[in-house]
Amino acid sequence: MKVPLLDLKAQYREIGNEIEAVVRAVFASQRFILGPEVEACERAIAEYCGAADAVGVSSGTDALLVSLMNEGIGRGDEVITTPYTFFATAGSIVRAGARPIFVDIDPVSFNMDVTRIEERITEATRAIIPVHLFGCLADMEHLMEIAERHGLIVIEDAAQALGAGRGELRAGAIGDYGCFSFFPSKNLGGAGDGGMVTVRDAGRAQGLRSLRNHGMEESYLHPRVGGNFRLDELQAAVIRVKLRHLDQWTRARQRNAQRYEGLFAESGLQERGLVVTPRADEVGHVFNQYVVRVERRDELRAFLAEKGIGTAVYYPLPLHMQECFAYLGYRRGDFPQSEKAASETLALPVYPELSDDQAAAVVAAIGEFYLSETRRR
Ligand SMILES: *Cc1c(COP(=O)(O)O)cnc(C)c1O
Repeated sequence: MKVPLLDLKAQYREIGNEIEAVVRAVFASQRFILGPEVEACERAIAEYCGAADAVGVSSGTDALLVSLMNEGIGRGDEVITTPYTFFATAGSIVRAGARPIFVDIDPVSFNMDVTRIEERITEATRAIIPVHLFGCLADMEHLMEIAERHGLIVIEDAAQALGAGRGELRAGAIGDYGCFSFFPSKNLGGAGDGGMVTVRDAGRAQGLRSLRNHGMEESYLHPRVGGNFRLDELQAAVIRVKLRHLDQWTRARQRNAQRYEGLFAESGLQERGLVVTPRADEVGHVFNQYVVRVERRDELRAFLAEKGIGTAVYYPLPLHMQECFAYLGYRRGDFPQSEKAASETLALPVYPELSDDQAAAVVAAIGEFYLSETRRR
């Protein structure tokens, strides 16, 4: 049975008509940049997250960059984050002119180990960027306490976590800024690149709106240098349609995660320590990725690929070991949990349309791999 890692065509079969209607309306209007669709999308996302306001931007990467710029964070400043994340998290810090300071992860949640943040705070520290990796909220209660005690800005990298969290603790409404991505493989993907910054304090939105448009305040007057970080009307229209379906998709992802949990328990693989599953009941986990730890990861991945089962490795090389960050002076061994995760983790298909039979086929194939391995030995 073929099981792709993600099946966006299945989603499009369900909602294609709705999407095409709004796309046609944008074409009919011939308004493509910063119009009513972007404004409506901003209001909808702010409300969805429980944030005071939201500002549409060109990508999740630019959401991070423009948040740092809005605080004037740059040369001489340090920003604390995790080395086990997508490149953009630290890349944006460097593009703003600041220095990323890494803190290792907690091995269970894969998120920043907040108990190690304080030892890295210096006079130069200005902000913390926690990442809600794979759709699982970082330990924000504890992190916000630390940030408040030291007067630091908190920018949530919530690119994988739209809708994550529960009650008062919702991704994008906890820190000063929440950065979202509408890259097609996120839980709410647009028809191209797009992003959003949510703010807890509405006063911060005006600066973001100006920076995304070259720092312009009144027509052609520029108190600050910004960039072209604008969200398109077309993207905003597509995102708004999809937002109406998001909760249902999220529930399907959570149900799939629970299904895996049961299947792995039955398989005996967990018991033998061959597969370690994520906690399916983690606080409001939205499962942008369902990531397990496995033995002989790369061999298993090749075996599954042969059977038509799509998987991915997020991420094979932690950021402190990337060539472009060599100047930061980190070495292999500096962040052992991140390095271990990078060599053991594997993302399995968890997209909403995944059927029970497909999930069962994935677990059966993993069982087959380890069974044949033991036989061979
Ligand atoms: C996808 C992602 C980003 C970047 O978003 P883009 O829209 O692709 O620029 C940033 N951080 C994390 C953790 C991501 O997963």
